[in-house]
Order: sequence, then structure tokens, then C-alpha cells
Amino acid sequence: MDIRKIVLIQPGRDGRVLGKATALPYTLMRLASLVPEEIAVEIWDENLGALENRILTELGPNDVVGISAKTLAIETTEKFTGLAHQAGVQYVAVGGAHATLMPEHVSRWADVVFTGEAYFTWPAFIQDVFHDTVQSHYDDTEWADLGGIAPLTDRVIAQVDEQRNYWTPLLEITRGCPRSCTFCTAIRVSGQVMRFRPVEEVVEEIERRKIDRFFLTDDNFGLAFRINPGYVEELFRALAKLPLRSWTTQAEMMVSQFPDLLDMARRAHLDKFFIGFESVNPNNRSELGGKSKGQTDDYLRAISEIHEHGLGVVGLFVYGFDNDTPATMWETWEFAKAAGLDSMSQTILTPYPGTPFRQQLLEEDRLIPNIPWRLYDTAHVTYYPKRMTVEEFTREYDKICRTVYSPLRIAKRGTRSLARISRFSFSALPRKIFSSFSTDYGYRREFSWRHTS
Ligand code: SF4
Repeated sequence: MDIRKIVLIQPGRDGRVLGKATALPYTLMRLASLVPEEIAVEIWDENLGALENRILTELGPNDVVGISAKTLAIETTEKFTGLAHQAGVQYVAVGGAHATLMPEHVSRWADVVFTGEAYFTWPAFIQDVFHDTVQSHYDDTEWADLGGIAPLTDRVIAQVDEQRNYWTPLLEITRGCPRSCTFCTAIRVSGQVMRFRPVEEVVEEIERRKIDRFFLTDDNFGLAFRINPGYVEELFRALAKLPLRSWTTQAEMMVSQFPDLLDMARRAHLDKFFIGFESVNPNNRSELGGKSKGQTDDYLRAISEIHEHGLGVVGLFVYGFDNDTPATMWETWEFAKAAGLDSMSQTILTPYPGTPFRQQLLEEDRLIPNIPWRLYDTAHVTYYPKRMTVEEFTREYDKICRTVYSPLRIAKRGTRSLARISRFSFSALPRKIFSSFSTDYGYRREFSWRHTS
């Protein structure tokens, strides 16, 4: 079949702030960059505007549609697939986390299912469309080396226009995580071998995109401090030379054991780590994959060490493990205050497909029936917890979110972060004002959005 154009769709779920979508469709940009130059390719992001009418009126039989979706957007993805079929589209290909974790679900209504990363199978699929040899399933789970994988093309960068359309530039430096948290989907989608993009490719992409701040998509960048410190040093030296405002990444508290790298990180314009402590309840340690043990004394030492190096810490916590009660949430809040965290994310444990946690709940018959996938958003209770009722859990979660993300608390935390930054570099203050309040504001907004949409 001759292809008129390829349209890659990002289903919306996060809404907009002042006309901008929150996060860049980074994966789709990489996949769009793999489309041969002679074929037209477009990225349609539902966060920037409704797509139903566009799908019905702008697509036709010679177009190919690709949709990448997480579990919470899979119902929208199914709806878009149906509309594309109505418009005459022959091939709607669906990939992303949900398709990888639950391909049997997606194959019920999509023409083609992609599991894994698709950097090799996506170009193969395009060729198969030309030759009318399309298969129903493409699997790419070899976790290839990241060097030279899908560099962004200038036509894609120009089309997406991230400065105008998006709040948070995303960037990938590493991928994969060797830990084994029972609730994690990332390792099932990106693999358990940590892989590294060549430093020169990272720098080249930052310069070509003209970005001066970014959030890493990496599953657990911090673990590179231990696995590949030489790489981290080379990266930090290169980033230190760039005119960056700030960047942030996910990590684990073990980074506090590398004082020299922490100093280099600050000079490389790293602003703060998002650290998955997950729980302050030591009885949950078996679920935490080895990176945290629920020991708050250890957490306090790690946070203080990182702060001493002029870097911020956002604590990531998950509620609802089998040993948690409503009191666990308030103990977490007391801990966060004592630790002087710069911000904290609070999520509800969610039994995503393909995880040991979901398997356990299935065996114990503890999944709440008929919960729509759109509520698998880490802000809703989707299973029967062991030591609290669903109602108690929901009520208390609501209360703690309102407490932690109150404007007064946000102002206090942001001001404290700025005071700490000023101890290291007074001249950096104007550049840091935005980032000192934006994380908290983002969590507040996300909580309200998910409970009203
Ligand atoms: S440390 Fe993070 S990325 Fe790694 S397995 Fe645990 S939750 Fe997943």
C-alpha cells in the first residue's frame, strides 16, 4: 500500500496549563524521527486539542496511525482506533506501556500491536505496509544499546515546537533499572539492564533542541552513580559547559554516598533528585526491590547529605502496601517535614498489568471489579487494601493531599529551597525561582485534575 501520511497520536490525560501541555510527546518524537523523510509524518497530541473530529475528517484509507498509550489512556486509545477505522484507516498500530504489558487486551481491537521499544520494529512495520506484508504483532524486547537509536530529526523538532506548546522538555540519558520493585512497570517496559546514551549524542540533542532545562525520562538515573560512575563523570563534565538553567531526574537515595559526583552534579546544573523512598513503613521492605528499606533514619541521613551539596530532594512515596494503614500517610508527612524535603509526590499503589503486585491481587481476589482503566492513574484506589477499607484509604489520601499541597505549605517549601540554594550561589537564585515552586504546584494541580476529570 502507498502511504499518504503517518499520524502518531498521543491520547491526552493531563490537561493544559496556560495553553501549554505539560509533557512533551518524547517517545512519539523519537518514533516520528524514524519515518523516512519521503513520507509525511505528523504528531497529534490530544492535550493540545480534541482529536475526534480531526480523526474523522483528516484521515483516510492511505494513512497509517500509530498510538502510544499508558494503561490509563487505553480506553481513549480504543475509541480513537474505532474512529480511525470509521475514517477508512486500514492500519492502526498501538504500542507503549499498556500494549507491552497486556498485548492480548490491545489485540482485540487494534490492527497491529507493538510490544517493547519499537525502535527496530517500527521501521520494519513501515516497510511491511509498503509491501502488504503487515503482521499483527511486532515485538522489540532485545533492549538494544542506546547509541544512535532514533535521534530526533529537525523536521520533528520544528513540527512539535516544544518551546511554544509544552511546559516540560523531556530528555533520555539512560534507560532500564536492575531493581525489582513488585509494583514497577518501567522495568517490564524498558528492561532490567541499565543502558546509556553516548554523552556526545545527549549534548548534541540538547543543543539542537535549544533547551535550557529538562526532566529526564530515565527510570532510575541515580543508579548510574554506582553502576557506571565513569560515564556519569563524563556526562556531568559535558553538561557543566552548557548554558543550562536546571534539570531534574529520578534517583535513589544511594546517590548520597557519592559526594564527589554530587558536587559535579551541582556544577552540571542538576537542580534536584526525585528519590523513590516509597515507604516509611519498614514492614514493606520486601516490596521495595532493594533500594529502600523503610528505615527513616537512613532516609534522613541521605537527604541531609544531598542538601549539603546544594541539591534538592523531592521524595516519592507510595501508599497502600499490605502493611499500610491510614496512619502511614500521616507518618510520611511528619517524616517529610522533619527531613525538609523540597517537595513530595504521594501516589496510591496501583496494580498495573504484568506486575507481581497485580498477580498477587488476582490470586487473592482483591481487584475491585469493573474499575475503568482510566482510574489506573495512581490517584484512585483500584483494589481492596489489607489493613484499611477502600473508603478509609480514599478519604485519608484526599485529606493528606490537601494538607501537603496547600498554598501555604507550597510557599514554605519553595522559600526554604531558595534559601538553601542561596547558600551555594546567590547569582543562581533568579534562575531557580520557577523550579523551587513548580514541582509542588504540579503535584497540586495533578491531584485536583485527576479527581475532577
Ligand atoms: S527502582 Fe524504580 S525503576 Fe527500578 S524497579 Fe524500582 S520502581 Fe522500578
